Formats: sequence, structure tokens, C-alpha cells
Amino acid sequence: MTILDGKKISNQIKDEIAIEVASMKERGEKVPHLAAVLVGTDGASLTYVGSKVRSCKRIGFESTLHHLPSETTEKELLQLVHQLNEDPNIDGYIVQLPLPKHIDEQEVLMAVHPDKDVDGFHPTNFGKMALDMETFISATPYGIMELLRRYKVDTEGKHAVIIGRSHIVGRPISILMSQKGKAANATVTLAHSRTKNIKELTLQADIIVSALGVPHFLKADMVKTGAVIIDVGITRVEDATKEKGYYITGDVDFEAVSKKASYITPVPGGVGPMTIAMLLKNTLLARERHRKNA
Ligand code: NAP
Repeated sequence: MTILDGKKISNQIKDEIAIEVASMKERGEKVPHLAAVLVGTDGASLTYVGSKVRSCKRIGFESTLHHLPSETTEKELLQLVHQLNEDPNIDGYIVQLPLPKHIDEQEVLMAVHPDKDVDGFHPTNFGKMALDMETFISATPYGIMELLRRYKVDTEGKHAVIIGRSHIVGRPISILMSQKGKAANATVTLAHSRTKNIKELTLQADIIVSALGVPHFLKADMVKTGAVIIDVGITRVEDATKEKGYYITGDVDFEAVSKKASYITPVPGGVGPMTIAMLLKNTLLARERHRKNA
């Protein structure tokens, strides 16, 4: 069994980007600038945005954090989005989800200019991704594909069962894995909460991507020997014995499933760090495009 070490691979990717940034500086070019918008004080969001900003510093990107109070109105947030769209200094930006309930997420994501949408959530970018066109592929599915590519996991003609159909993980990864190309060409089944007999499907799967957010959902008796297991789930489970008052777990019963798997991602240290690395890669791509179009 091989651990798909997202931490190690994401560090390699960050090192590769840092080399690019250093040569940009040497050539006297502007370095990529990523902005992040965070509304409210959700603990997990604060952690994610914090590590995105820290990663920018590490690789030599510029970064700006707009941290707005929970009571920010949709209109105020949209004003900031328009400001970021117009700002020539910003190459790309993200609006950290989830947003407070009084703000329509869809409205906000639709307002992000597709050329700065480094999360790849805008319909223009999602559509291009689905049509095999060059675009910003949203960071989590992009990270999974990159992890499979770098470990040379064979996906051609394999049966991949994806559990979860969200717009940011399950749906796009089902499209990417079924496309023509490296780390793709799989035959994909997309399962969700209305799917009957998930176990029957997962037992046939050569590759399982679990993206539901239900701790320990995928058990060893649901997996065939030699399967490749990608655990996207990140859930905070309250635990008073831990220093932070919680621990992080994935969707997979790692202890038991890893004994049957050929490859498996750990949580933490699997898909999570890859997501950040691919966001940075998208920001580098945005900078290159803006330079060419300037
Ligand atoms: P989401 O929007 O809540 O979607 C969850 C999906 O799982 C839905 O399609 C839902 O089905 C399905 N589902 C829920 N319970 C199920 C069950 N018992 N059986 C089968 N399907 C079930 O979640 P998400 O945003 O995709 O995130 C999923 C997990 O990944 C979360 O733990 C999240 O924190 C994590 N995540 C991790 C990263 C990373 O960087 N590693 C990035 C994003 C998300 P329905 O559509 O029928 O409701």
C-alpha cells in the first residue's frame, strides 16, 4: 500500500512555483497577487484562509486578505468583488465559502470576473473545464488529478466511483476523471445521498473518491482489495481531550481500509494541502495570462 502524500507533493509544487516566481522577479516582472475575501469568523474558514495567505508568502506571491464582519450585506460584498475585478494589481482572488446565510453565494460567485476566478467556480470556467478547454480548474478536483498523475496511478479504463455530487468537488472530479487524457479515461459512477446500495457500487470500484463529509463512512467491507482510495472529507469532530477541542477526520475508516487499498490519501495530509497548491498554480496561470494580455 502506498500513501498518496499530498503534503509532500504540494510542497514540491510550491517549490516549483517559487522557482518561477524568483525568475519573474529577476526579469523585473510583477509577481502574482492573490486576494482572499473572508466574511465572518467560521473557525475552519479562518484556518483555510490563513494557510492560503501563509503559502503565498512562502512562495513569493503577494497576498491581500479582506476580512469582513459577519453582518456584511450582500451589496457591500458585491462592491468589494467589483473593486477586485477592476484592480489591475490583483491577478486572482477567492471568496471563501461558506458565506453567511443572508448572502446569496451564487450571486457572489457569478460576480467574480472569470479571468480572476482562480477557484474555478464561475460557470464560464466550469463550462470550459467540462469542455476540455484550458481554464482554471477548481482547486480540489485539480489537486486530486495532480496527485494521481504524480504517483502515476493508472486510471485508464478503471471504474471510478465518486461519492458526492457537489459543484466544487464531486461533480467536477466525475467530469475530469471521465475525460480523455492522463490520469483520466476512467469509467465513472457518481453516487449521492439518493443512490441505492452504495456498497454494491464501491465493491466494484477500482478507484473511490469519497467527498461527502461523513466521518468513517467508507468501511473496509465496502472496498475491494487493491482499490485506490481518495478521501476528500474534512470533518471537525469535537473532542475535549484534544488541545484545540476537536480533531480532523476524513470520510474513510483509514485504519481498516488502508490494509486493503493499493493507494490511499490520509486526512490530514492528503487532498487538503493539494487544494492549496493548485490554487497557487491557478494564480500563477492568471498572472501569466494577464501579462500576455497587457
Ligand atoms: P457537500 O456540498 O455537502 O456535498 C456532499 C455530497 O455528499 C452531496 O452530493 C450529498 O448528496 C452526498 N452525501 C451526503 N451524505 C451522503 C450519504 N450518506 N451517502 C451518499 N452520499 C451522501 O460537500 P462538499 O463541499 O462536496 O464537501 C464534501 C467533503 O469534502 C466535506 O467534508 C468538506 O469539508 C470536504 N472538502 C475538502 C476539501 C479539501 O481541500 N480536502 C475541499 C472541499 C471540501 P446530495 O447531493 O444528494 O445531498
